[in-house]
Amino acid sequence: MSEGSELYDITIIGGGPVGLFTAFYAGMRQMNVKIIESLPQLGGQLGTLYPEKDIFDVAGFPKIKAKDLVANLKKQAFQFNPTVVLDERVQELVRQDDQTFLLKTLSGNEHRTKTVVITAGVGAFEPRRINVENAEIYDGKKICIIMWMMSAALRISAWLFWAAATRRSTGQTHWSRLPSK
Ligand SMILES: Cc1cc2nc3c(=O)[nH]c(=O)nc-3n(C[C@H](O)[C@H](O)[C@H](O)COP(=O)(O)OP(=O)(O)OC[C@H]3O[C@@H](n4cnc5c(N)ncnc54)[C@H](O)[C@@H]3O)c2cc1C
Repeated sequence: MSEGSELYDITIIGGGPVGLFTAFYAGMRQMNVKIIESLPQLGGQLGTLYPEKDIFDVAGFPKIKAKDLVANLKKQAFQFNPTVVLDERVQELVRQDDQTFLLKTLSGNEHRTKTVVITAGVGAFEPRRINVENAEIYDGKKICIIMWMMSAALRISAWLFWAAATRRSTGQTHWSRLPSK
């Protein structure tokens, strides 16, 4: 499939906070804008790595959660209806004879643009796959969260058992940490 028929004024590679604000600014200047993001959602590191973290160093916000900042950036950028392409990783940038650019993505799509702004941050993010045979059958089943919860639950029950055993032998409960091994 090719999405390259329309020629955009500006194509932004990377839909993190910098890409989103770039889209807002270009939209305000009446450019037609496309954002290409390798992840299934916008927001970059804020949405992917620390959505619940409070951020204290954004001008005008004494404190704001990362996911709320992403929501605000999207709202600001979307006022000018940029085209958003998700799940597409730009791999190649080819200058054309007419001085426009052709962007080729990993999935084989092509995008045409007069200018390119690369706001790729630390690089394209990809989901980290579990290195287990047939792991793909668990795709979309949130197995990591379940495993984490199970290990946390096992740890908590071991800790409570240990605390109760200590109490039985000494008559006191010591709320200290269970040794990690
Ligand atoms: C744990 C943690 C806490 C932080 N806390 C703070 C804080 O409190 N205050 C602060 O100011 N900063 C903080 N930072 C730093 C901040 O997150 C980054 O400075 C910011 O995300 C950079 O934004 P960006 O848009 O340049 O890049 P990114 O957020 O990295 O976004 C780049 C986007 O481009 C996409 N992309 C890359 N390559 C391609 C490609 N080839 N094709 C398509 N898409 C592509 C990526 O998937 C990504 O979504 C923190 C960082 C971390 C890890």
